[in-house]
Amino acid sequence: MEAYENFTYEIGDNLYINLTSKCTNACTFCVRNEKADYFGHKLWLAREPAPEEVLARIPADVARYKEYVFCGFGEPTIRLGALLAVARELKARGAAVRLNTNGQANLIHKRDVTGDLAGAVDKINVSLNEATAAAYTALCKPSFGEAAFYGLQEFAEKCAARGIQTWFSVVDILGEEKLAACRAIAEKCGVPLKVRPYIE
Ligand code: SF4
Repeated sequence: MEAYENFTYEIGDNLYINLTSKCTNACTFCVRNEKADYFGHKLWLAREPAPEEVLARIPADVARYKEYVFCGFGEPTIRLGALLAVARELKARGAAVRLNTNGQANLIHKRDVTGDLAGAVDKINVSLNEATAAAYTALCKPSFGEAAFYGLQEFAEKCAARGIQTWFSVVDILGEEKLAACRAIAEKCGVPLKVRPYIE
């Protein structure tokens, strides 16, 4: 029998949806580097789920969770088709849907996918992580090189312009000078910057 795969996992009031273990970044801080376990959940997937398999793990009463969050060990937008299918069904049932992303979806799919995300996703958290392209590339090792840093900014700007509640996130260990530069980037893109505490 196939081992149980954590296509969904619960943290606090939210249900997280784990579509893939693949990513276009190889961040030096990624939890994938250290353990196959996150808040006690084994998130490395032996195989990726079909949308129906994810939906089978969504409670009939979607109000049981505050938010349904696409976020895993990998980058959810790599599986855009599955993400949209699940997100649209969740929205149809009245759920609040969030995407946590590295913001590289338009680079990955070589087209503007923000129109697809509008209407399927309520909120998007784009990890900005750093204040310059060089620093981002050193920290996140994107397969797209420095284009990833500029691409994620354009992605966030487009998502916000389409009415999706979008923000950048960074961790609070950057220091005030870098945080000020990140704030300026966020302002230029027309999105807020959320500074979250660093978790060891
Ligand atoms: S973008 Fe996220 S999943 Fe991808 S390597 Fe970085 S921290 Fe890990």
